[in-house]
Amino acid sequence: MLYVQKYGGTSLGDAGKIQVAARRAADLSRQGYKVVLVVSAQGNTTDKMLAQAAKVNRRGAARELDAYLSAGEQMSAALTAMALGALGCPAVSLTGPQAGIYTDGVHGNARILDVDTSRIRRELNEGKIVVVAGFQGLGPTGDVTTLGRGGSDITAVALAAWLRADKCQIFTDVDGIYDRDPNIYPGAQRFGRIGYEKMLSLARNGAQVLHDRSVELARDRRITVEVLSASTGEPGTLVCNLE
Ligand code: ASP
Ligand code: MG
Repeated sequence: MLYVQKYGGTSLGDAGKIQVAARRAADLSRQGYKVVLVVSAQGNTTDKMLAQAAKVNRRGAARELDAYLSAGEQMSAALTAMALGALGCPAVSLTGPQAGIYTDGVHGNARILDVDTSRIRRELNEGKIVVVAGFQGLGPTGDVTTLGRGGSDITAVALAAWLRADKCQIFTDVDGIYDRDPNIYPGAQRFGRIGYEKMLSLARNGAQVLHDRSVELARDRRITVEVLSASTGEPGTLVCNLE
């Protein structure tokens, strides 16, 4: 049984949180499951990087910006793999290109076209947890491309699809999907399950929990996506086929 587990930036915001994610994956691995972790850049790293970049080039240099921003996720991935190593759990971090994620090459807003899963499979078969840097892939010119803000969700669903994972879990700073923003409306209701189309309209109308393109991909490839709290790991919301 294969798990794809994705952690957002807030859920990896400090060393303690990285250890929580690592421990959860290590527990699964010890029980005999295969685990692929997908990670975002820590905290507001990407915002800070964008501000840095704007200081040196305000007009934007798409290729270099992607080279720069993709490093945020790569740092997170390496740190997470180190945390796993400290737990005695064999792990390897991979960049999007190393993980075999191929995109259409549009800098800053690339689409995933294909995933060559052979490297990930090889590492999994050697008993390692594979930690993949989210939000990036390799374009046709051989350059790294990023998938757009919040794009690590797309990486997770794509890997679940191409690897035919049994579970695709998105760990985040909320405990599921609500019908309204629970921070604003105290009466907001959490869904136990939500269909793809309804989730898509929430995502397109500004719900930040899942990138809308990750929901489209989940719908098209019939991937059930579980959204749950990174701190508790308690069951949250299943995004699935309800039609
Ligand atoms: N780090 C990127 C962002 O902040 C991608 C992601 O977090 O999913 O947009
Ligand atoms: Mg997000």
